[in-house]
Amino acid sequence: MAQAAACPSLQGIAELRPVSAPRHRSGTSFRQVEQCLGSEEAIVAHLFRCREKELSLCPTCARPVKLVPTKRIGTYSGTCCQAFHRIVTMDTLFERSTWPLTSWIMAMVYFANSRSGISRAFLQTMFGLTGGSAHIICKRIRQHMALLEDERQVGGPSEPVGLSFQRIKGARGSRIQSRSVLVMAIHDASHVVPVVVADRRPSTIHPIVRAKVRPGSILVYRDRIEHARLNQFRSNWGLARSFAIEPASRYSGIDNAILVFWMHFRRVMAAGHGHFARGNLWLYLGEFAFRFNRRSEPDQIFWDMVSHFPPVVGRGA
Ligand SMILES: [Zn+2]
Repeated sequence: MAQAAACPSLQGIAELRPVSAPRHRSGTSFRQVEQCLGSEEAIVAHLFRCREKELSLCPTCARPVKLVPTKRIGTYSGTCCQAFHRIVTMDTLFERSTWPLTSWIMAMVYFANSRSGISRAFLQTMFGLTGGSAHIICKRIRQHMALLEDERQVGGPSEPVGLSFQRIKGARGSRIQSRSVLVMAIHDASHVVPVVVADRRPSTIHPIVRAKVRPGSILVYRDRIEHARLNQFRSNWGLARSFAIEPASRYSGIDNAILVFWMHFRRVMAAGHGHFARGNLWLYLGEFAFRFNRRSEPDQIFWDMVSHFPPVVGRGA
């Protein structure tokens, strides 16, 4: 994955991933995971490898310091301007959780292997949790996946990229039934980046397109309205200054992935998350896109989920 290649800890993942266990094209087995992340110690060591660079900076002068493990598992100490402690789960989805890390990892395997997502009720049953705990765990894993997927870009030199808009509505009687949420999806022939947007104005969508579409891509339009949306205010922030703009009719197959994406996403939401809160839609979109964009290599999903750990706690929602 181009995205994963940018991650400094990918080397660690390549070593981590057991070679001896049989590979299943359709996902990752508990047995594979147990071989390398089967104990609290192994998970802590992996987290430390992934996060050593950021954790080892002195809180006063920001110089890197050698950290040494303390007696308490998961806690490291260093000395520079002053002595300081670091908890390896700090800022990650595991922060302040009393649930064992091994259980977290198992729950993440479920999320990785499921084709249509995991519900709170399923985790509650499988792990004998209270509804409240299962809710928090689901939300944090979704946040983690959404934040990792947020790093994705689409397109590339001479690759066509399209925009697609959908209004997502909650189920009957849900909190957002009366007002739908607008989602813009930026897509090339195989990958989709969905973003919740307030409206379709150029001032809203142009900065997102610039951030998510790789340089050299060709933006395609289907009709005059789409053409105007890309070209509008050319002198100020029109996308024509950054990208070539061409009609979609020249590129067959550009819509293959996006049609499947929306069809499947609507089905998943209707089946499992009909009563979602407006502010949480980006989590479901992120979780879904994380799996969708890796659909040709489902056995990679779990390992990408543990490849690095962006700050989760306190973000969004
Ligand atoms: Zn210092």
